[in-house]
Amino acid sequence: MDFFASNLLSWYDREGRKGLPWQHPRTPYRVWLSEIMLQQTQVATVIPYFQAFLRRFPQVVDLANAELDEVLALWAGLGYYARARNLHAAAQMVRDRFGGEFPDTLDELQLLPGVGRSTAGAILAQAFNRRGVILDGNVRRVLCRFHAVQEDPAKAATQKQLWSLAEQHTPDSRHADYAQAVMDLGATLCARSPRCEQCPVSGECKGLALGIQGELPIRRKRSERKVRQARMYLLMQGRSLYLERRPPAGIWGGMLCPPVQYLEHLDDQPKGLCLARRKHSFSHFDLLFEPVMLSQESEMPQVVQCEEGIWYHLDKPAPGGFPAPVALLLDELRDSL
Ligand code: SF4
Repeated sequence: MDFFASNLLSWYDREGRKGLPWQHPRTPYRVWLSEIMLQQTQVATVIPYFQAFLRRFPQVVDLANAELDEVLALWAGLGYYARARNLHAAAQMVRDRFGGEFPDTLDELQLLPGVGRSTAGAILAQAFNRRGVILDGNVRRVLCRFHAVQEDPAKAATQKQLWSLAEQHTPDSRHADYAQAVMDLGATLCARSPRCEQCPVSGECKGLALGIQGELPIRRKRSERKVRQARMYLLMQGRSLYLERRPPAGIWGGMLCPPVQYLEHLDDQPKGLCLARRKHSFSHFDLLFEPVMLSQESEMPQVVQCEEGIWYHLDKPAPGGFPAPVALLLDELRDSL
């Protein structure tokens, strides 16, 4: 075991997080569920969602047998909804292809929708206590700093170098503990603003020695964020609102939503009553959208999303999860109508 792994494990023994809900017990289903939820999301946010999912779907087969709408509804608020659709599809693959048991090899785990090489490594290590190499965003940051990697980590050559470093550091024992420790280091001490004075591997950190740890990893120059503009049509009949199911690919895929029309700009005056514009940020662009209240179907422009449309009564339980900005808008409508 090298300096990095042994110091990290000693730190984990002293200070690591050992009471997380998915650690007790560490079944493959619970570990997989937590790993998918933790992608791009912090532990504190994930815990209540994790518990709600387990209450409703105690076993992976329960999740596989559920309607996608119900899964999306439970997921609402966690963001990155493709994860929820993948979660449902992966549960069905575990049920149908693997007889209800999670596979225990790196290659087979990567067949599951939403499970990449790093997530598969994390599941292997934590659920099966096998050697699994991890390179998620947090570990990438740690390794770029520890080895003073001054290349853009998005480049294929840098990725290859980082996987090789991650592989070299991963020990041949204590797989689950090491996985948790290396992810924790990136999430806590070696976070965006590193706290090197408390770091268990600071003695050999090249980034720290060179005084460039705060500048790593190198970030690609951000091109100006794209802004897409759209109208969202709120066709009302009393307290019922017309919703369409979004196409499976693209933003808010598979979710119920008022019809959305993308436009070059929002300068013209539509029929109906325009509400205040609002902005929602996605990973690669901002969506500036203007909700427009309509009282007659004839006022609705031709906005073909898909064939499935429903009338949703605002005071009834939601038929599926709503994207966060839509949920907010519906709350405002409930209060104002
Ligand atoms: S010493 Fe600082 S920069 Fe280096 S790994 Fe530790 S926290 Fe990160």
